[in-house]
Amino acid sequence: MSERSIIVLVEDDPNIADLVDLYLTNEGHRVYQATAGVRALEVCALRKPELVILDIGLAGEMDGFDVCRSLRADSNVPIIMLTARHDEIDRVVGFELGADDYVVKPFSPRELMGRVRAILRRSGTPVADNTQLMTIGSLQIDGQRCEVLLDGQPVSLAAQEWALLWFFAQNRGLALTRRQLLDGGWGSDWIGDIRTVDVHVRQLRRKLGDALPVKTVRGIGYRFD
Ligand code: CA
Repeated sequence: MSERSIIVLVEDDPNIADLVDLYLTNEGHRVYQATAGVRALEVCALRKPELVILDIGLAGEMDGFDVCRSLRADSNVPIIMLTARHDEIDRVVGFELGADDYVVKPFSPRELMGRVRAILRRSGTPVADNTQLMTIGSLQIDGQRCEVLLDGQPVSLAAQEWALLWFFAQNRGLALTRRQLLDGGWGSDWIGDIRTVDVHVRQLRRKLGDALPVKTVRGIGYRFD
């Protein structure tokens, strides 16, 4: 488990930035701040963070969505997005761009720290049964390396997409509810809308295409065959 992690905090409100920085630093993390999108990308390239906390509403030419999209072009670093708006569209767009979690302002620093711990735990802990290598059609799922290959080529997945795929693969043939997928994939400390599962299944289908043997089970959820 990553006790001390490198975290890039992208927030243009200095009050929020300093408060969050203080809490993260108190937990032992090393925090690098950026207040604008372009700078955020530079800091991430330089520091190679283990987590990015990213405000959506940034002044300047890049907002948080743009930063998220740019980061995802070549990195699977976990991203927690912050927003001032309680807007479902923002949430869905954020997840589709590859954000791992989402916190609405005003939030309590404690709540945010809970999310940070959960994300770092998910991305840092080896999966329990991690020796397994599964081959399903043209897919190879490598539990040890947390990697999926499609026709021998690695496919880049966000941390949550990987966690969901792995949980599916370990429960082949079972119809799973969205709640089971949410708890099993991301842990019961995940606080989110169960529809989040749909967004991530859609992402997996987009990335893996017909090779992904996940079927929609009407009235229940999904099944991995
Ligand atoms: Ca802002």
